[in-house]
Amino acid sequence: MTGALTEHQEQARTQFRAFTDRHIAPHADTWHRAQRTPPAVIRLLAEEGLLGMHVPREYGGGGCDAVTLGLLAGELGRACSSVRSLLTVHSMVAHTVARWAGREVKERWLPRLASGERIAALAVSEPGTGSDAAGVSTRIDRDGDDFIVSGHKKWITYGDSADVFLLVGRSAEGPTALLVERDTPGLSTELIEDMIGIRASMTAHVRLDGCRIPGSHLLARAGLGVSHAVGAALDLGRYTVGWGCVGILDAALEACVDYACRREQFGSLIKDHQLVRRMISDMYTDARAARLLCLEAGRLRDARDPHAPAATSTAKYFAAAAAGRAAADAVQLHGANGCSSDYPVQRLLGDSRVMEIIEGSAQLHQVGLAEYAFQQRPCRSER
Ligand SMILES: Cc1cc2nc3c(=O)[nH]c(=O)nc-3n(C[C@H](O)[C@H](O)[C@H](O)COP(=O)(O)OP(=O)(O)OC[C@H]3O[C@@H](n4cnc5c(N)ncnc54)[C@H](O)[C@@H]3O)c2cc1C
Repeated sequence: MTGALTEHQEQARTQFRAFTDRHIAPHADTWHRAQRTPPAVIRLLAEEGLLGMHVPREYGGGGCDAVTLGLLAGELGRACSSVRSLLTVHSMVAHTVARWAGREVKERWLPRLASGERIAALAVSEPGTGSDAAGVSTRIDRDGDDFIVSGHKKWITYGDSADVFLLVGRSAEGPTALLVERDTPGLSTELIEDMIGIRASMTAHVRLDGCRIPGSHLLARAGLGVSHAVGAALDLGRYTVGWGCVGILDAALEACVDYACRREQFGSLIKDHQLVRRMISDMYTDARAARLLCLEAGRLRDARDPHAPAATSTAKYFAAAAAGRAAADAVQLHGANGCSSDYPVQRLLGDSRVMEIIEGSAQLHQVGLAEYAFQQRPCRSER
């Protein structure tokens, strides 16, 4: 590690590593092939308190700091990106409920989300709406004290098994966020199979046909309310995805070091071929750099520094691109074996592709970070 963690954070990381090495990593390829996360695994994560680590203690969560949450996402990402994505979406929703929901919804849902007894998913994207989340077309109409919701959400991670959804739709005033329970009449889900990556994350269509949602389930009204609430959720999602990419980098590096020390060609181990060493050195450097950027983002988040969102975007953007480079090199270094499902690097390659699309595509981070850079260092003519 870096030596820059507190003793408590270092202990937590050691525990996360022991847990994922025992219960997650050995099964990740099987779940990837089956395109399912077994319910028993979700129960185990819940029993260990891992799904509610970031939920405030007053609601039964672990109340952990951002760095510790990141370390957990990193270890889960090293073991299985699908399971890491469960932590991501569940934490995003729990975080939003903790900060923005009314008392009744908080008291009903936060203890269940903290314990992991119930699983949450984030339902923003639609067939016609992705990066531009403000363009959602799912309709939210007032009917007395209630809302009536109709529309189609797509690509919803763990949408096929989640108990509750943070849904963003469009009311007469504009984009609006509600909490929608799975057993609401009119709500149905359908699994999306054969994705390129995070294949065990039970990504789904969520269809809503005249769903009646109590007015108390309003999380954020149109305008600044929804942009703050959903913006904060996406910011947290980016943070855990960045750390998940650190995990992919670690997994790629470990797999490659192991393979290069065993595979012989041209009378020597491939680890002794200089061009193979170059791939290892790039992976190592990328892994270190991504980890340090994620750690910086975590520390700024814990300090409530106003630059934390930009640091989070930087970390996610870099780590996702680095994970993509490392996974591609990892397949290359494994040769034909890397193209087969006998080795985990094939899974890492598919998972890494997804990382540059979710929680802000690479291009959206580029656009936002360039804007931030211009703000921080104004053009000379404007100084
Ligand atoms: C595996 C997986 C899981 C997902 N899970 C969830 C989930 O749980 N909940 C949820 O709500 N959504 C989820 N999504 C959807 C995800 O949020 C979107 O895929 C993402 O926001 C990008 O939107 P899009 O796919 O529609 O691409 P588009 O927005 O259509 O973008 C297409 C291309 O255009 C580029 N582009 C778009 N706008 C700009 C711009 N202004 N400047 C430059 N380039 C631009 C993009 O970078 C991209 O390369 C998931 C997606 C995947 C693949």
